[in-house]
Amino acid sequence: MQILRETKLEGLRLAKKIGRAKVLEVLSKKGLVGRGGAGFPIAKKWETSLGVKAKERYVICNADEGEPGTFKDKFILKNNPETMIEGLLIAAYVLKAKRCFIYLRGEYDYLREELEEKISEILKKSKMKISIEIVRGAGAYICGEETAILQSIMGNRGNAMYKPPHPTVEGLWGKPTVINNVETLTCVPQALVYDDWNPDYRLFSISGDVCHPGVYEWELGVKMSTILDTVKPNGKLKAMAFGCFGGIMPVNKNLSVSQNTICKEGCQHGAFSIIFIGEKHNIVDICLSIAKFYTYESCGKCTPCREGTIRLVNLLKKIKSKKADKSDIKLLKEFAEHIQETSLCGLGRSCGNHILTSLKHFKKDYMGYLK
Ligand code: SF4
Repeated sequence: MQILRETKLEGLRLAKKIGRAKVLEVLSKKGLVGRGGAGFPIAKKWETSLGVKAKERYVICNADEGEPGTFKDKFILKNNPETMIEGLLIAAYVLKAKRCFIYLRGEYDYLREELEEKISEILKKSKMKISIEIVRGAGAYICGEETAILQSIMGNRGNAMYKPPHPTVEGLWGKPTVINNVETLTCVPQALVYDDWNPDYRLFSISGDVCHPGVYEWELGVKMSTILDTVKPNGKLKAMAFGCFGGIMPVNKNLSVSQNTICKEGCQHGAFSIIFIGEKHNIVDICLSIAKFYTYESCGKCTPCREGTIRLVNLLKKIKSKKADKSDIKLLKEFAEHIQETSLCGLGRSCGNHILTSLKHFKKDYMGYLK
């Protein structure tokens, strides 16, 4: 796997040798984009932050991987943490940051001790005078969102904030702060060191009704038939969900899996986590389960998300109990669209994706429940 290649501080040595501007040029040429879902070019993000005049600057590694069905960052933290830490050091060097943070998902706290040992070992070897602190999340999904991470690290309740200002310009304690996730930072030294590093190799978290769930690496454009041959469906498959927020679409063996082909179906690839759903499941039941998750995780700051996610659950429950008619389906769609359009952060803006895409692809399941 490309992501498991170790760089043994060669990337940091190279970065210091060629200098900040050249590092940005190389990362840009190599096409490294954020692996958390948004796909923003890393060099552009770092450049924006460097363009802000400030006495202090911070770097955060987002290890708060809370999306259901996503576990690729945990795989890296367990199997190649050294390269991720090296990526953090390169970011600190390029951004002239003296303080870095790893915001670790609460459920991954068992990895903390080993991470701390690796950090002190690598800092010693690098001779860099910076600090890397691990901050443990408390289990809130919203804290994977950039502005909520900032609040949490500063000791506040993990609420999402309005943007702009973006964290790259005004982040921790009002200072420019760059946030990259575990996979992105791991790619930084690898992209610098290896000439054959390929930006299209992505980690996929595979789960659901398959015999071999796990983390796999495939090149974008991989055929769905190749994925299915590897993970072996456990019975006939009906659908696939891209985590919780990316939507649901039918399984098509001929699909070339990439951002474009997934978006064409109205879904979002996010961090490439695919939950396969077998024929035995009704999509309304799956949507109800996802909707309950959003209700539970909504931070409650803005009305459309706080109130709307509860309405979605109630409507889905009504449909499931065969007390709904066609007008409720129409209302469900309108609610989902309205919440997405008016919510403040990514949680509210994506909480209707599973409903809207399943209404597009699996309307039969809804109609079968009507009174
Ligand atoms: S959209 Fe939801 S999670 Fe985001 S700020 Fe509003 S209430 Fe909180």
